[in-house]
Amino acid sequence: MLSKTKTQYAVKVMGEMFPDARPSLRAASPFQYLVSVMLSAQATDISVNKVTPQLFKHFPTAIEMAAATETAIQQDIHSIGLYRNKAKHIKATSQALLVNFAGVVPSNRQDLMSLPGVGRKTADVVLADAFAEPAFAVDTHVERVTKRLHMVPQKASVLEVEQLMMQKLPKEKWITAHHRMIYFGRYQCLARAPKCTTCPLLSVCLAGQQRLAKAK
Ligand code: SF4
Repeated sequence: MLSKTKTQYAVKVMGEMFPDARPSLRAASPFQYLVSVMLSAQATDISVNKVTPQLFKHFPTAIEMAAATETAIQQDIHSIGLYRNKAKHIKATSQALLVNFAGVVPSNRQDLMSLPGVGRKTADVVLADAFAEPAFAVDTHVERVTKRLHMVPQKASVLEVEQLMMQKLPKEKWITAHHRMIYFGRYQCLARAPKCTTCPLLSVCLAGQQRLAKAK
């Protein structure tokens, strides 16, 4: 497994490759960010950013969203995958925010995860990006990149990936490391066709070395 030092080196290189790696969902408040993250499950951030201006024009806060019909929410987000289920969860979460948190998005994981349709990854992303609270969210890119680079065991669960990476990286680097890994996974270490021949991390990447050896 990649040592702590080499893991930190790899994250540093990713930072040099993608100095502008930052959240790409657009939102004007923690509530809108939470809704955007909920919409982004199995959808691209670009597709979410296309529908949220209209959605947030109609329903800018938890008050308006909780009072909206599911059909009205669906109409604004119908181009996003799983939109019916997402509309249901967004409405239910807005209602729960009003009932339990005075309409304010909580800034701790336990309360966030008490909201309908909000899992650990969504909670971590909201904590990190909306509140700058140290968290290391593991999405599909982060899981793939950490496993290809053998930063974590191949069979590690998502929770184990999160915990191991938090041990290997200094707390103040968790949020930036998450964003760097997303960019690295999106543009260099792609799911189907990783660009190993041009990868600056090939020297520390067993998966990449094996892939290129097989191709010879
Ligand atoms: Fe991904 Fe290939 Fe780079 Fe390894 S060498 S991190 S598999 S792109």
